[in-house]
Amino acid sequence: SAWPASKGISYDQLTEIIHDTPSPERAREWSQYYTAGPHLAGKNRSQAEWTAQKWEEFGLKSSIATYDVYINYPLDHRLALLKDGRVEFEASLEEDVLDEDPTSGLEDRVPTFHGYSASGNVTGSYVYCNYGTFADYEELVKAGVDLKGKIALIKYGGIFRGLKLKRASELGMIGGVIYSDPGDDGEITEENGYKTYPDGPARNPSSVQRGSVEYLSVAPGDPTTIGYPSLPGVPRQSTDGKIPDIPSLPISYAEALPLLKALNGHGPNASAFPASWHTGGLGYKGVHYNIGPTPDSVTLNLMNKQEYVTTPLWNAIGIINGSISDEVVVIGNHRDAWIAGGAGDPNSGSAALMEVIRSFGVALDAGWKPLRTIVFASWDGEEYGLIGSTEWVEEYLPWLSEATVAYINVDVGARGPHFNTAAAPVLNKLIEATTAEIMSPNQTTPNQTVYDLWNRHIDTMGSGSDFTAFQDFAGIPCIDVGFGAGGNDPVYHYHSNYDSFHWMETYGDPGWLYHVTIAKIIAVLAAKLVEQPVIAFSATEYAVGLAKYLDSVKVQAEMLSNNDLESVASEDTFKSLRNAIKSFHDAASSMDIEAANLTAQIDSSTKSTNFTELYQSVRKVNTKYKLLERQFLYAPGLDSRSWFKHVVFAPGLWTGYAGATYPGIVEALDDRNATAVRKWADIVEASIDGAIGLLEG
Ligand code: GLU
Ligand code: CA
Ligand code: ZN
Ligand code: ZN
Repeated sequence: SAWPASKGISYDQLTEIIHDTPSPERAREWSQYYTAGPHLAGKNRSQAEWTAQKWEEFGLKSSIATYDVYINYPLDHRLALLKDGRVEFEASLEEDVLDEDPTSGLEDRVPTFHGYSASGNVTGSYVYCNYGTFADYEELVKAGVDLKGKIALIKYGGIFRGLKLKRASELGMIGGVIYSDPGDDGEITEENGYKTYPDGPARNPSSVQRGSVEYLSVAPGDPTTIGYPSLPGVPRQSTDGKIPDIPSLPISYAEALPLLKALNGHGPNASAFPASWHTGGLGYKGVHYNIGPTPDSVTLNLMNKQEYVTTPLWNAIGIINGSISDEVVVIGNHRDAWIAGGAGDPNSGSAALMEVIRSFGVALDAGWKPLRTIVFASWDGEEYGLIGSTEWVEEYLPWLSEATVAYINVDVGARGPHFNTAAAPVLNKLIEATTAEIMSPNQTTPNQTVYDLWNRHIDTMGSGSDFTAFQDFAGIPCIDVGFGAGGNDPVYHYHSNYDSFHWMETYGDPGWLYHVTIAKIIAVLAAKLVEQPVIAFSATEYAVGLAKYLDSVKVQAEMLSNNDLESVASEDTFKSLRNAIKSFHDAASSMDIEAANLTAQIDSSTKSTNFTELYQSVRKVNTKYKLLERQFLYAPGLDSRSWFKHVVFAPGLWTGYAGATYPGIVEALDDRNATAVRKWADIVEASIDGAIGLLEG
């Protein structure tokens, strides 16, 4: 178009480059580089430098952002089942070394442990706690199971692992052992006759899920610098209430078996509990899923020894300057992994990001100068608690608030064929338009796009990856994308040695085509966001979302009034909010119409068009779009976790990964605190009014 700020190549040329450049061979090559050896947070400097160097070669300006962060590395551990004081079973706490999978047997492979776990040496009887959700512990308490002084034996799944320990500790338990139950692996299990990895697609019985146990719904990032960057010399806070105070270990199902079997016959059976307790998959191995506790004569000795250090970590940051410097799109992926491999998490994303940047490099060589500025990030320390991204957002908050349009995240970019996404509602339409332009590697019918095969579900923004600080602390709309696995796909060995290059090439993405496809999706999302003269947002989608979320809160409030306090949330509370949302909907759709008109004017512009005037109108609309999400920040933050500033989105207090909407209202309802419900309804309403003011201003 004749749009004055576009420079170099046309949008069509840019998208052609994006569609033609990413290749399976190169994605494979990047994956091989990143997954060849351990690259834990704070121990991957060479990879940070290599990444920045590559980005320079592709035409970006690159640098390394360093932070001094408080993290732990494993020193020692033990888990033994004792009967009458004698060792009945000593866990190896090791994953099997597989000849077929070279990185599973590296000399310097990473032990099995939990990030931010407490050191300790405890012995006690133990209780089977299902997934360790808040509700699961409520069931145990209701059934009169004695939890005090006991060790929790918990399944992975459902919620963020740290929160399983948080509740255990609150209830007086003294340690936690978390294992991967094959009952959560879908169809592809040993029990169903599938061979286990490396001989087949089922879970290797020795696989262990490492992972952080930071209380991430309280605050992500370095737990000693909540709210400000971990720069050298800054004051350090206590970690109390942010990381567990009881020791924990992750184990495999092979090593959980003797523990589960020793529970047989003790205490109630899981079958007497609600349906969510009936998912254990080790019945065929003789496990009855009794809850316990085990008798005093049957105990676990759990020893966990961690070294805590304050140590540097490294984000690689790359920039492509656009014509407009205060409209910025940030794209990020973490680089650090729990294991030597990490071919899925996170380096399928890292390989894809490299292909995005290589493609943009081709465009730069052809003379492209984007309209808006693009910043790329290779984050370190995501695994411990989104550290690299959180510290960076905390450091650059004033600039990010002023300039950032959106953040695109890719963590696990490819580990199966199913497209998954979460997004702030203003970006919903953009995801639909983008996926509809991209061919799926799966062409069961010709010309099938990613959109055609996608279930069309867009998750709300929760947590568990690097978008969290952008969305919840800085009020920047985010998109998270990736290809995941369904119940009939090969089992993904999350945070295990078997999330390796060998697994990826054999089972996860053998042709590397999903790596290529996610790269194209990210590149097209970015291209649309930086090149369309009018920012590709839908404000109306936000209004639609707000109304939908309010319905779900209302259902919650009604349930509460039925069995509890009638006055916790009055009908008026919701009526008033609903009216505010209605007004916001009107303002938002006027805004979107104005935006569409401007786009039409640009598309039909000629040399004689008054571009100065048109440009001013576009800038005005774009500034409103850019600042819209910011209106939903509340500076004092949520009542029980003030780092979280967003009044519409937060990770669920007791889910961690899954998002809560209107978290202030929801938590006040949970506390049956009518005053707080009123307060939060007012805060939300004030935000909506602020958003209306912005759009109409
Ligand atoms: N994505 C990582 C995990 O799920 C880190 C999440 C966090 O600690 O915030 O374990
Ligand atoms: Ca911090
Ligand atoms: Zn990850
Ligand atoms: Zn991870």
